[in-house]
Amino acid sequence: MSRIVYVNGTYLPEGEATVSIFDRGFLMADGVYEVTTVLDGKLIDFDGHLTRLQRSLDELDIANPMSRDEWLEVHRQLVAQNGVDQGMIYLQVTRGAPGDRDFIFPDPETTTPTVVLFTQSNPTLIDSPKAAKGIKVITIDDIRWGRRDIKTVQLLYPSMGKMMAIKAGADDAWLTQDGEVTEGTSNNAYIIKNGRIITRALSNDILHGITRAAVLRFAREAQMPVEERSFTVDEAKTADEAFVTSASTFVMPVVEIDGARLGEGKPGPMALRLREIYIEESRKAAV
Ligand code: PMP
Repeated sequence: MSRIVYVNGTYLPEGEATVSIFDRGFLMADGVYEVTTVLDGKLIDFDGHLTRLQRSLDELDIANPMSRDEWLEVHRQLVAQNGVDQGMIYLQVTRGAPGDRDFIFPDPETTTPTVVLFTQSNPTLIDSPKAAKGIKVITIDDIRWGRRDIKTVQLLYPSMGKMMAIKAGADDAWLTQDGEVTEGTSNNAYIIKNGRIITRALSNDILHGITRAAVLRFAREAQMPVEERSFTVDEAKTADEAFVTSASTFVMPVVEIDGARLGEGKPGPMALRLREIYIEESRKAAV
């Protein structure tokens, strides 16, 4: 079945949706994105994603083309028109298509942002076989640019990192800088040691995960101690548990780091508990 997608104000079948070859998203990765999870046909943490979208746009000096309520309407329309029960909505805003290639930003009066949204269904989001087994990660150098807090569409290195992981027989990669873990290729990274949850503090070095914010809040509410600080790969390899978070994987247990098994090589109890709490609480608050 062909999806209905949204491009610049119009809902249309995916095969009829087009953007210009001069679009700066295409030519220069000059654009930002968000991924919002859909559970039971409702949006998880919609306002968190919109707040981060606004921040990413502000950092790049791109005007937000829609109000919160207009964004919400498009999200809901796409969920309804595509009958999505479990899955996600991908949203991308680029600086637009000035009609020529130029490093200089085009005049926003004449070049308006390009807006694209589409859905992806995923019926195993909650009953995820990966979450039941846990994932294996390798560590690789974090050679991305210095503004990882802006959610831009320049995802080549994260994509290469995932390919390196697969080639090495693992599921994903953790990125490291000066021996310390920054984050996963498409998720935030955590270890648990002596009952304490440890994850890198927010800065320009990592994306400020919407799931991270929610999970840390739920952890504190459940009296699980949280330390927002950097940790080394060596510390991670000897941790009791580890996990990653992202909108599309929730809390995903990690059972192996660079070939070193954590605990019994099974998802740890705290990671599983956090996954449960996160899913339950997010479902309750979905819009
Ligand atoms: N870090 C990176 C590099 C990511 O790409 C993502 C997911 N887009 C995350 C962290 C997790 O962010 P969120 O919880 O908002 O999905």
